[in-house]
Amino acid sequence: MSEHFGALHHVTAFAGEPARNLAFYGDVLGLRLVKRTVNFDDPGTWHLYYGDEAASPGSILTFFPIPGLPRGGQGVGQATATAFSVPPASLPFWRAHLARHGVAVREAGPRFGAEVIGFADPDGLALELVADPAADAIQGAARGDIPAAHAIRGFHGVTLRVRDAARTASVLVNLLGYAEGREEAGRLRFAATRGDGAIASVVDIVEAPQGARGEDGAGVAHHIAFRAPDVAFMEALRRRIAAAGHRVTPILDRQYFRSIYFREPGGVLFEVASDPPGFATDEPAEALGERLMLPAWLEPQRGAIERALPSLERGSAFGEVARERAGSDAAERVA
Ligand code: ZN
Repeated sequence: MSEHFGALHHVTAFAGEPARNLAFYGDVLGLRLVKRTVNFDDPGTWHLYYGDEAASPGSILTFFPIPGLPRGGQGVGQATATAFSVPPASLPFWRAHLARHGVAVREAGPRFGAEVIGFADPDGLALELVADPAADAIQGAARGDIPAAHAIRGFHGVTLRVRDAARTASVLVNLLGYAEGREEAGRLRFAATRGDGAIASVVDIVEAPQGARGEDGAGVAHHIAFRAPDVAFMEALRRRIAAAGHRVTPILDRQYFRSIYFREPGGVLFEVASDPPGFATDEPAEALGERLMLPAWLEPQRGAIERALPSLERGSAFGEVARERAGSDAAERVA
């Protein structure tokens, strides 16, 4: 078994205005834009990947930002919070930093012995910072007005909201290698037994038996991805997932990783993504995210794609009419 199996690889969410999304994750949270590409299934839509300096699995938060996309609804069948790790001594910095940027901060802990603060991105996506002693052992990188000492060190984990925790727990434990959950204050915590232990190894389940189903849209997570060390491992895991009765996709080429997807019984879309080849496969590590990268099959359409994509520059958004129209088209595609 690989030491990296099971920890989180990435989380993907929908957003509205692309320039606002980039400004928030780059300037306010200090994440690095590590890949600037398009939705391969809809090349008129950006796919922006944020992460740590090295674009490490376990630090990658990706967005499909679509101007005018209506807000989704949080509910069961979704990852309802995404948490990042920061050194415990950094929480006072983050409270002040977020307040300075006009972001309302909520005290959400203590949780399993750790302080937690909660806040939302400009589209309403629920985010958390966890005071994580493991973060002290990871080198941070300075970005904008965030000193290296306080930088986000990748994910801590995610919270899933489902109607019946047991069935989702069974997938985590029996297929993805998580340890049995510990319960605290209505929250079940599962840890990736074969993850690095340092980052992105926590999945919490909050059970909401009467909860309304969530709806896709801006400010809502679309899926979460777990790490697989390589494609051979993924092939074996895919057979086990299918044998357990889940409908699982073939292995898909996502350019920066290979992927399989299946919907766990609680309704959350799960992906398993391979660590290789990684994000430095089509551009050098020091220049990640600087230019639009397209897979070979879209390269012939580069000119048209570049003209169609909304600007990522602040203050250069579409007019309201174009925005509304793009939003309703996008909502139909998403649905
Ligand atoms: Zn994904």
